[in-house]
Amino acid sequence: MTRSNNPRLTCPHCGGFARIRRSKGLTPIYREGVLECRDAECGWRGNVAFEITQTLSPSLKPNPEVRLPLSPGLREQLVAESN
Ligand SMILES: [Zn+2]
Repeated sequence: MTRSNNPRLTCPHCGGFARIRRSKGLTPIYREGVLECRDAECGWRGNVAFEITQTLSPSLKPNPEVRLPLSPGLREQLVAESN
């Protein structure tokens, strides 16, 4: 058995595997695409959106356009280091 690091997305109706088609990034932290159920007997399709909501570990190559809230744990850590 091969293990994949890709997150498995499932159809909200039949619970089968679904795949993302035509994914596009609208901003560095927001993507939209079409989620398509792979079960031909189900046939469901819908819009899907992904948003990155928080930083858990800061980038060493930060993009100045990206402004994400820090997780509460990381904020405490940075405050502790600056004291
Ligand atoms: Zn389905």
